[in-house]
Amino acid sequence: MSTFFTPGPAALFPTVEGHYAEAFRQNIGSISHRSSAFRKIYQHADEQLRQLFGLPKETAVLFTGSATEIWERVLMNTVEHESFHLVNGSFSKKFFDFSQELHKYAHAMHKPFGEGFDAAEVIVPEYAELICCTANETSSGVQMRAAEIHKIKKAHKDKLVMVDMVSSAPYPNLDFNLVDSAMFSVQKAFGMPAGLGVWIANEKMLAKSERMKLHGDTVGTYHSLPSLWENYKKFETPETPNVMGIYVLGKVAEDYNRIGVDVMRKETDRKAKALYDFAKKSDQFDIFVTNESHRSATVVVLNCKTLAGEVIKQVQAKSDFILGAGYGKMKETQIRIANFPAVNLEQVEALIATLGSI
Ligand SMILES: *Cc1c(COP(=O)(O)O)cnc(C)c1O
Repeated sequence: MSTFFTPGPAALFPTVEGHYAEAFRQNIGSISHRSSAFRKIYQHADEQLRQLFGLPKETAVLFTGSATEIWERVLMNTVEHESFHLVNGSFSKKFFDFSQELHKYAHAMHKPFGEGFDAAEVIVPEYAELICCTANETSSGVQMRAAEIHKIKKAHKDKLVMVDMVSSAPYPNLDFNLVDSAMFSVQKAFGMPAGLGVWIANEKMLAKSERMKLHGDTVGTYHSLPSLWENYKKFETPETPNVMGIYVLGKVAEDYNRIGVDVMRKETDRKAKALYDFAKKSDQFDIFVTNESHRSATVVVLNCKTLAGEVIKQVQAKSDFILGAGYGKMKETQIRIANFPAVNLEQVEALIATLGSI
């Protein structure tokens, strides 16, 4: 059986298949989303995610179709005029593009592909209402450390801070007493099939959205922050949601809590170190991100001395490991290796052995 080291969709977490089987056994695909059975499923996912992320009381856990949707929702609901984006790759750029497409005044600080941000160098425009950070830029394998994001918020308490943690959650140790909002989708580090976005938002976000609505701004229809939040209070959703996905997410989050998020973070660090140490010594591969503190723990990007497509083919032929290709223009020169909880140290070591043998 293939092992996927692709950065999303990614390898399924080992318990996922069993949770889906149990969901089918319990007819979860057919129950009403206005039933107490569904409300219990939502509440369970909420409790487990709250524990996993250490969420304070005044935050909501909301469900959408995808993380891409949440980029749009967060801009529509909390930016009256101006947003500010830290842009250093394709995903952070898309967030910035969405703001322009929505006719907001989008400011950005740009860094070249493969470079990251530290709080000390970030100058936030005076009138920016929302600061948009990407905890892990999946296209280039660059992370922004939680401590740097916290510093930005501490220096700009009057502004809202939004974190795209799609390709790293629950790895970043974010303090949700500081950070106002964050989001992820389930097909990355939660090791589930795609089709569910998770939006964490606090009451300041809700208050902003309600103020905008009052002023006649369009904050969206079924997935406006006020409508999501109103439904959340009864553990419901405005539309018929991905009930199976919400059920399995609650179960996976429970599995993660059982392992312990700190243990998981350490394990991620251990696997990342093994991969980077291998690349340092290899004459076939180089580490792409030069600044060690910006190097992603969850998506390892390596430069290849030979055609990346050939490397990917050989690794698959030899060991049935599926690697991610470089993003966009980097397709021919880079490989991307997802270091998510679904792959264990043994599997990472087996991949390293294969990479070393080609
Ligand atoms: C994958 C990804 C997204 C988009 O997620 P979807 O589930 O495809 O909507 C957004 N941001 C980052 C950093 C990602 O890696």
